[in-house]
Amino acid sequence: MNTLEAPFIGINRHRIGIDGEGVTTLAAFHGCPLRCRYCLNPGCLDAEATVRHYTPESLYQALLIDNLYFVATGGGVCFGGGEPLLRPDFLRRFHELCEGRWKITLETSLNVAPTVLQKVHPIVSHYIIDIKDANDDIYQAYTGKSNRRVWENLRWLAEHADPTTVTIRVPLIPEFNSEKDIERSMARVRELGFTQIDRLTYKT
Ligand code: SF4
Repeated sequence: MNTLEAPFIGINRHRIGIDGEGVTTLAAFHGCPLRCRYCLNPGCLDAEATVRHYTPESLYQALLIDNLYFVATGGGVCFGGGEPLLRPDFLRRFHELCEGRWKITLETSLNVAPTVLQKVHPIVSHYIIDIKDANDDIYQAYTGKSNRRVWENLRWLAEHADPTTVTIRVPLIPEFNSEKDIERSMARVRELGFTQIDRLTYKT
């Protein structure tokens, strides 16, 4: 077995303007370190979920069908899930296979060890980061984990990434935070120098 083989809960082609520039394919990994109460992809947390396994090579072959769209529109692949940063070696190998022709976007909670982010950073074209809430009590109540590593990683990205390559999602989470909490979260994100902020409301 290829040691980089990884489980996926879905592949979604021909996405435009949702998760990255140009035409994008979303590849959603199984597995996430968080346990969000309103997880939109509960399949990624379910041990019994139907998954399909890919190696970087087999995924690349499967997505080649849209190569012309990606290249013509400046698009590529958005890795989500689940948490793509649980698979840093997969992502790096996949990027090698693309030879720079496809943009790599990550949809991530950033709640991973800083060494993992730093290892993957050179191959990422764009980040879409859902910070949930900046208040750690709210974050822990909603996800089951502390957001300490999220903010450590955000501070690192603020120093090492072009802010135009980072989109931060700041959600209203019914029954967990308020408009005031969102304003505080957005202020903290702006203090770090990020300007692309998506304010949204989770569906329960
Ligand atoms: S971070 Fe995303 S995938 Fe993981 S539990 Fe939360 S909503 Fe689900």
